[in-house]
Amino acid sequence: LFAGPCDFLKGVVAMDGLPPADRLEVCFAGRSNVGKSSLINALTGRKALARASNTPGRTQEINFFTLGEQFYLVDLPGYGFAEAPKPVVEKWQALLRAYLSGRPTLRRVMLLIDARHGIKAVDEEIMTLLNRAAVTFQVVLTKADKPRGGALNATVAEVAERLGKQPAAFPEILLTSSESGAGIEQLRAVIAAMH
Ligand code: GDP
Repeated sequence: LFAGPCDFLKGVVAMDGLPPADRLEVCFAGRSNVGKSSLINALTGRKALARASNTPGRTQEINFFTLGEQFYLVDLPGYGFAEAPKPVVEKWQALLRAYLSGRPTLRRVMLLIDARHGIKAVDEEIMTLLNRAAVTFQVVLTKADKPRGGALNATVAEVAERLGKQPAAFPEILLTSSESGAGIEQLRAVIAAMH
C-alpha cells in the first residue's frame, strides 16, 4: 500500500465536496501541534505532503490523499486551538460530525496523542463524538522519542486505562516517532491490513 504514490486529491470544506465514497479510507485526527503532518509525511515517505502548518484557520479543511489505487488517507484539521474564533470552531465541528457519522467507507480514525501530554479534554470530546458515530478509533502516540525515564510507560498505562471506557476504541496503542522512525513501519502494517 505504501510502496506506490500518495497524492493530494482535494481539500474539503463542506459535505458536498467529499469525494465519492467508492473506496475505503483511514483518517488521521489530533490536536494542533500533535505531530500529525510529520507523521503523515513519515508514513508516506514524502516530505511536506501534509502541510506542516499550525496556523488556526489555514487548515480548516478535510484533506484527502490517494494511497494506492483503492484507499484514501484523510487528514482532519488539528483541533484544540483556544485562539480560534468561535464561528471557525463551530463550522469545523459541524463538518467533523457530519463527516464522521455519515461516511460508510471510513474504516478507522487514527487518533494522535502526544506522548508527552497524554489524553486532554479536547481529545475526550473527539472520542465522545467517535463513540456516538460508532467509528472505530485507534490511539497513536506521537513524539515517543521525547518522554524520559518511565514517563512513556506511565502515559501508555494511563491511555490504556482510559481507552477501556471507550466503546469504539481499538485496544492496541501504537507508539511512534517521526523523528526516529520508531513505530512507522508498524503503523503502515496496521493501515495496510485494513485495506
Ligand atoms: P501538526 O500540527 O500536528 O501537523 O504537527 P507538526 O507535524 O507540524 O509537528 C509539530 C511540532 O512537533 C514540530 O515542531 C515538529 O518538529 C515536532 N514533532 C513532530 N513529530 C515529532 C516527533 O516524532 N518527535 C519530536 N521530538 N518532535 C516532533
